[in-house]
Amino acid sequence: MKLYECGNCGNPVHFDNRVCINCGSQLGFLPEAMSMQALTPAGDDLWQASSRQEADVRFCANAAHDICNWLISTNDHHIYCQACRYNRIVPVTDNPEGLARWQKIGQAQRHLFYSLLRWNLPRPGRDVDPQGGARLRFPRRRGRCQRLSGPGHDRS
Ligand SMILES: [Zn+2]
Ligand SMILES: [Zn+2]
Repeated sequence: MKLYECGNCGNPVHFDNRVCINCGSQLGFLPEAMSMQALTPAGDDLWQASSRQEADVRFCANAAHDICNWLISTNDHHIYCQACRYNRIVPVTDNPEGLARWQKIGQAQRHLFYSLLRWNLPRPGRDVDPQGGARLRFPRRRGRCQRLSGPGHDRS
């Protein structure tokens, strides 16, 4: 995984970073730009990304649990980012063990989807292709899981 630059100060940052250690900017990965963005809060859960003209990005819903640092454009109706929206069965987040498991899974998942996006490989979800679309499930015999509603996890 290559190193990125903070969009604010140019300091090298990693793909999974949430904050620039040099300037303190909040960071997020924007799949459309395939780059790490330095973010300025713009109210209403919106952020102004360093490479964009408008404050038109928000964080993936999984950012709330520190599971994901990917961004979504406001013209995208999903509440989950391009990596997380395929999840159907995931660990519960009301205990440290479940949360840690999901954070680990989420990290691997973003690396996978980074490669899919980079090589522009097809990745239809169940919302596009109800029969053959991709769907990720992370059950485990011990440890509770939760089923996310679908298809598409629409925001509305
Ligand atoms: Zn910085
Ligand atoms: Zn996400």
